[in-house]
Amino acid sequence: MKTVGEISPRPRLPAAARAALDDRLGERVSYSEAVRSQHGHSETHFASCLPDAVVFVENTDEVVFVVGLCAAHDIKLTAYGAGTSIEGNALPIAGGISLDMSRMNRILSINADDFDVTVEAGVTRIALNNHLRDQGLFFPVDPGADATIGGMASTRASGTNAVRYGTMREAVLGLRVVTADGREIRTARRARKSAAGYDLTRLFVGAEGTLGIITEVTLRLHPIPEVISSAVCSFETLEGAATTVIQAIQLGVPLARAEILDDAQMRAVNRWSKLGYPEKTTLFFEFHGSQASVDEQVATVEELATSNGGGTFSWSSLPEERSRLWKARHEAYYATLGLRPGSAGWATDVCVPIGRLAECISETKRDLSTCSVPATICGHVGDGNFHVCFALDPDAPDEWAEVEAFNARLVARALTMDGTCTGEHGIGLGKQAALVDELGDGVDLMRAIKRALDPAGIFNPGKIFAPN
Ligand SMILES: Cc1cc2nc3c(=O)[nH]c(=O)nc-3n(C[C@H](O)[C@H](O)[C@H](O)COP(=O)(O)OP(=O)(O)OC[C@H]3O[C@@H](n4cnc5c(N)ncnc54)[C@H](O)[C@@H]3O)c2cc1C
Repeated sequence: MKTVGEISPRPRLPAAARAALDDRLGERVSYSEAVRSQHGHSETHFASCLPDAVVFVENTDEVVFVVGLCAAHDIKLTAYGAGTSIEGNALPIAGGISLDMSRMNRILSINADDFDVTVEAGVTRIALNNHLRDQGLFFPVDPGADATIGGMASTRASGTNAVRYGTMREAVLGLRVVTADGREIRTARRARKSAAGYDLTRLFVGAEGTLGIITEVTLRLHPIPEVISSAVCSFETLEGAATTVIQAIQLGVPLARAEILDDAQMRAVNRWSKLGYPEKTTLFFEFHGSQASVDEQVATVEELATSNGGGTFSWSSLPEERSRLWKARHEAYYATLGLRPGSAGWATDVCVPIGRLAECISETKRDLSTCSVPATICGHVGDGNFHVCFALDPDAPDEWAEVEAFNARLVARALTMDGTCTGEHGIGLGKQAALVDELGDGVDLMRAIKRALDPAGIFNPGKIFAPN
């Protein structure tokens, strides 16, 4: 297993800083091994590393206080939302404080007429949608995991709905952020568009907590569609499935979700979620709109599927059936790990222009056929984004080397096709070399921005590029 950071059994914050923290926040500062371990653990293949303390903040004043304390004592500070990120993004690899945002979970204002909402950063997307449902509104960005809005903004997350509703880049209208010098700034007002200077909102969206701590987020909302219909369709080939989605998008069909799962992923999902779908490459679709519009979308997509080797569509219109279907899709990663009990997960994340997708997936599948580590493919095929998920033996270094080499080839393939090393998981620890391959001197500009906004390198050190 790879090791990052140092496992420190004893807290090592300066005594004066500890005293100030304890005095102001009392029991909301934790030095316990269990709480620190939970905040130093990643969902994927990165080894654990402990922060020196975990601080649970409840309001912006407390965030300002902790940032000021860290600046004064040169303590590193890593924001923690729900800890579901995939590239080791929230791991406190240099120790210091893990700033747990989950208690900043108030929904501050809903402007139903303007289709927007302002929330504290620790609100989770499921809690937000439960709160909005009665008003006929929903927030569409859906990474599967019940992530926080602050974490999702910071990784520029997307997920199954992005093909229709966009990613966090489109969803975030404005932010409140605590900066390294202890100020709380606002990046934008609620207006739908603005040409007011540099786009600070998008600077912090995707910054992985390296530039400041997001305390509030204003989000775009959407009306809950009149009709929602989901379907599953299996295909003879991976190319046929990918081509169906590409052609549907090229014809302007407003697909709400279009997810691809290869035969291995379907085997894993059937086993994990106790389903009985054919174990072939499969598309999961969702259509939103009026009855007439959904009927029209469905007719077009069924025709395209048939011409590309697809079978019959199996429909789920009842809410509970749809939830079961999408729950199975969202648990695909755990289903892959379930193929090999005790395994460690490694999820790749390339994204290519939609016109190159079928070619990229096919070449990747061919490459995978010589790989000895159990793996599955699934993806947000409507965006050109797909994941190969490996279930590794944690104690087999040759498997790690094999997957690392595979991932490097996959990223190189995507870059050759003018794609990206990460469609949605971010750079974190795992994609730093790939970022340089992708953007070259652009990374120097990112470093300059980091130095300007966080000259002492307090926020989430060692992420995106190292050293900061
Ligand atoms: C099973 C599974 C499926 C997933 N599927 C998808 C998917 O389809 N699409 C997708 O995009 N992602 C997916 N993810 C990844 C993950 O859910 C996202 O990266 C999510 O955005 C992380 O949110 P979080 O609240 O867990 O943040 P964390 O993991 O806690 O933190 C993520 C990053 O944001 C920073 N951060 C957190 N809160 C703040 C804040 N308030 N201010 C500043 N920085 C902050 C952290 O320091 C860290 O760098 C999946 C994860 C799992 C486990």
